[in-house]
Amino acid sequence: MPDLLVGAMICAVALGLGFLAGSAFRAAELRKTGKALEELKITNRDLSRWLQEYKDIHARDSEIAILFPSIIRRLAERHPTDALPRVAVRLTKELFKTAQVALAVTKTDGSLLVTEGVGIPLAWKGTLTLSPRDGMIGDALREKHLVLREEHVARGGRPELSDLERAGMVPDAVIPIVVEESVVAILAVAGSAGRMDRDRPYASMLADLVANAFQISLAIEALERRAMTDPLTGLYNRAYLADRFLVELRRARNYGFPMSVALFDIDRFKMVNDRYGHPAGDAVLRKLASFLRERTRSTDAVVRYGGEEFAVLMATADSDVAFQQADRIREEFEKTAFAVPGQADPIRVTISGGVATYPQDGQTFTELIAVADAGLYHAKENGRNRVSALRPVDLLPE
Ligand code: GH3
Ligand code: MG
Ligand code: MG
Repeated sequence: MPDLLVGAMICAVALGLGFLAGSAFRAAELRKTGKALEELKITNRDLSRWLQEYKDIHARDSEIAILFPSIIRRLAERHPTDALPRVAVRLTKELFKTAQVALAVTKTDGSLLVTEGVGIPLAWKGTLTLSPRDGMIGDALREKHLVLREEHVARGGRPELSDLERAGMVPDAVIPIVVEESVVAILAVAGSAGRMDRDRPYASMLADLVANAFQISLAIEALERRAMTDPLTGLYNRAYLADRFLVELRRARNYGFPMSVALFDIDRFKMVNDRYGHPAGDAVLRKLASFLRERTRSTDAVVRYGGEEFAVLMATADSDVAFQQADRIREEFEKTAFAVPGQADPIRVTISGGVATYPQDGQTFTELIAVADAGLYHAKENGRNRVSALRPVDLLPE
């Protein structure tokens, strides 16, 4: 083979090899660049996702910053305890934009009763009882903090076993309302437009605010009850009578009903104290209190008006009915012998009474009490152990 041809062949092979090596190198370079580009794309995707998420969070924060002051204001208003569930449910719906909210209160046996809600069947209210053990509610009661559906499922929980799910509500979250370490109620939230996981701190904040509102209204009601109750007999006191009188008077006016008040006073009570001792006197007061409670209607108000004076407000009773009722009470009490401390034998005590009726005897609490009191005085003057049917006309000076 001529040298030239060999040389040409060697050159061609070298060129071929060089080309191949070059291609392989370029391919590797291309692959590298492709990978780098791919990575860049991924980073970019992540960045836009994070940016969107940041924007969402920011938007939600701004929304919360507007919503929360009004939520705090509304929960700080004075609500009767039984009106609070409705307020809590409405605020929960507003805050989480949920289709369904159910509030269930803890009963004395530990189970929960749905009492309020939005987006739930009306028939559930006051009837749907939930077990405190199962599903997300069980977790929320045990842990005393918010439970998300994902968390519950991730832990191997089976929400479909809960009473709420069986009834047709699939909660995204269950929020317990904790007052003094006890769960007094739960809020179940379903079909929320937002993300409950991200809203977790706000849900906890709302639960704390609702719990506070419950605590405050319960404390105020307990104080009000105490201020209106006589500790010795457990009856309401004069302050309560004045308030209740206004309520009953408004009703009597609106419906055109009569209304009466009877005042009773124990006869010679000072003598009871002197003869049997003060504890025996107290026992007499308690006895008369329970006696009056038993012999009046649930719509009547029985109060300890003063030391040994009691009042019965008789809604819808005209003067004849009121007089008969008061005189029957007096007569039956006279016949009742009862035991008192330090006394071997049961004792008997009598009472006197006076009656006044709206509208004929007066238009206001003060006027009617004055007439009943005048009747009581008249009964005492005329021998005690009687109810006077004295009319205001009889009281006018001659
Ligand atoms: P009258 O038939 O005219 O009503 O005579 P009275 O003795 O019942 O009336 P008086 O107003 O003279 O006496 C009332 C007594 O009631 C005097 C007071 O010590 C007593 N009393 C008032 N509150 C209580 C109480 O909470 N417990 C006891 N044990 N006694 C009381
Ligand atoms: Mg007396
Ligand atoms: Mg008296």
